[in-house]
Amino acid sequence: MLANTVLHEPVSQLRGVGTALSEKLGKLGIVRVADLLFHLPLRYQDRTRIYSIASLRPEQEVLVEGEIEATEVINRGRTMLLCHIHDGTGLLTLRFFHFSTAQKYSLAKGVRIRCFGEVRQAGFKLEMAHPEYQLLNTNDPPPLENTLTPTYPSTEGLQQRTLRRLITLALEHADELPELLPPSALRQHQFPALRECLQLLHNPQGGKLDNGRLGGISTRLIFEELLAHQLGVQQARLAIQQVQAPAMLEENHFWQALRHALPFAPTAAQTRVISEITHDLQQPIPMNRLVQGDVGSGKTLVAVAAALHAIANGFQVALMAPTELLAEQHYQNLQRWLEPLGVETVFISGGQTARQRRRKVENLLLGIGHIAVGTHALFQNSVEFLQLGLIIIDEQHRFGVHQRFALREKGKQGEHYPHQLVMTATPIPRTLAMTAYGDMDYSVIDELPPGRTPITTVALSNERRDEVIERIAAASREGRQVYWVCTLIEESEVLQCEAAEKTAELLRERLPHIQVGLVHGRLHGSEKERIMREFKQGALQLLVATTVIEVGVDVPNASLMVIENAERMGLAQLHQLRGRVGRGKVASSCVLLYQAPLGKTARKRLDAMRTTTDGFVIADIDLELRGSGEVLGTRQTGDVRLKIASLVRDQHWLPAVQTAARDIVANYPERLEALTERWLQRVGEDTATRFFQS
Ligand code: ADP
Ligand code: MG
Repeated sequence: MLANTVLHEPVSQLRGVGTALSEKLGKLGIVRVADLLFHLPLRYQDRTRIYSIASLRPEQEVLVEGEIEATEVINRGRTMLLCHIHDGTGLLTLRFFHFSTAQKYSLAKGVRIRCFGEVRQAGFKLEMAHPEYQLLNTNDPPPLENTLTPTYPSTEGLQQRTLRRLITLALEHADELPELLPPSALRQHQFPALRECLQLLHNPQGGKLDNGRLGGISTRLIFEELLAHQLGVQQARLAIQQVQAPAMLEENHFWQALRHALPFAPTAAQTRVISEITHDLQQPIPMNRLVQGDVGSGKTLVAVAAALHAIANGFQVALMAPTELLAEQHYQNLQRWLEPLGVETVFISGGQTARQRRRKVENLLLGIGHIAVGTHALFQNSVEFLQLGLIIIDEQHRFGVHQRFALREKGKQGEHYPHQLVMTATPIPRTLAMTAYGDMDYSVIDELPPGRTPITTVALSNERRDEVIERIAAASREGRQVYWVCTLIEESEVLQCEAAEKTAELLRERLPHIQVGLVHGRLHGSEKERIMREFKQGALQLLVATTVIEVGVDVPNASLMVIENAERMGLAQLHQLRGRVGRGKVASSCVLLYQAPLGKTARKRLDAMRTTTDGFVIADIDLELRGSGEVLGTRQTGDVRLKIASLVRDQHWLPAVQTAARDIVANYPERLEALTERWLQRVGEDTATRFFQS
């Protein structure tokens, strides 16, 4: 539909876009000129007005203007430049870690300065670190911006300025965009024209955006994106029902045997979900089921029951975990449970040498190995199966949609596709799950195994670390084990590991009677495995770890969890981390260490953690907190990547969206492809097409 317009052309057709730049744009899913228009801002900077220093609050990103009072170079371990300014209402310090001599002299007393940056609290004072600034000629101050300045999602080496310039170019052609919403929806909801919405989103006037959040103008785009998503999901579901899978009708005698050997009985919820899965596996079309169960609800056992059903029917199973650590743990559990049944588990790891792997791979190809456990190494490497019948993906929020489909594709045997089971601990309300994962059926394990005592959570400031260390000593005297999780906001894994090493050293010093282990992402698989095994067996009392232990690790004797820098972490991640304790009969506790003073949102997050352990409640609060503030609606629910809509926040639109979807399918089928092409992301490989191919 876009044919013969500039919008349809590759971005390289635009002025100044060479190969290097179009590659970078490609990483953002921007391939054609039209994609630029739908590359929507993450947030806005307000350079339209000057704030008085007295009105500043920490975490605000604002424009300030004042006169320089004094400039000094100080040395606190490193040299820095401090420039103190005042504006008649208060004082603000600008802090520079890198500066030139010329810069130092230009920031002289009495000079007027305008700066833009994030305000932060330093002791009792406010400051800005490395603000953008300009020195002003008092008689002729430069004008302020008329519109808010958008900040776009970007990638390394791609400047905001470049994105803004290209998007402005693309906006000249916004008129050529075809209308894809059905007329009835346009009429009923009185949506403004598409061009108008895009203009405003890319160049918003301050007032129209109520505090930087998208106001009414975004609704139309949200609606359109939800519609595209809905249509995509429907198509995917239809496509899956067109293909064949092996109907596994034999009795699951392995499961009967394992159930009797287990020291506990499956919960009613586990039993129900297992029978839902069994029913799917008996059908001649591929199962495509999502199992959701809060941390500790016993998803592994459900996965094992499903695997055994496939194996009892003569098929092989692939079980994929998001991290090596988790894959190793699954492997050990499975081996322990399945070996007595004569079921052979094979561990495929990214860390294995080609030689180590060859035997294992051969066994899978010959059908001697029944179940393969691993990370994505399972489908990246040359692993082939004799008869793959079922793929299980654990903690799926770490896997993208396209990985799921690539895996299914890989398991294809003749006309038959494998069944697929996806397990997640991310709590998603049911109605939402039906939309977000509308291509899948959905089961919930809504019950925890009996005998668990709730976890007590406290938030302590870093000044009370000594108390925490004392608690660790006490726990270990009682024969309990402890996790200490080091988290850093920095993306760098190297830094994370270094921090964890330092902490481990310190704790070893302070707790000489305790065996302290350390796991982080830079250890070799075998080394990690050894330490985890020692912790599991109780040879180590304290495990210092980076967030590699976030998902799935299971050591029931661990009853104390300490999380550092808790104020910087998201609720979902904190909930996952805390879920590592409270798995045994003893009362467990969780200490959230934070650096004071706490921001408002951080305080609310920690409060939520203290007052509830219910994953659904936490998910709701998380949503509420994220919904506020300046972040626009790019919330991610599981692996559903949406540009502007949020399936949670915007769920009240879903009935209307469904009506519109039916309207499109019945009356405007030619718009279907254009809609999904416009909205579904093309990041890396072509997700949109894969969506339909599978
Ligand atoms: P998750 O759902 O977080 O993956 P796991 O599968 O790791 O949870 O199970 C958590 C712990 O509960 C494990 O030690 C597991 O053996 C145990 N468990 C699972 N099902 C039951 C049950 N029905 N009764 C008692 N313990 C169970
Ligand atoms: Mg698990």
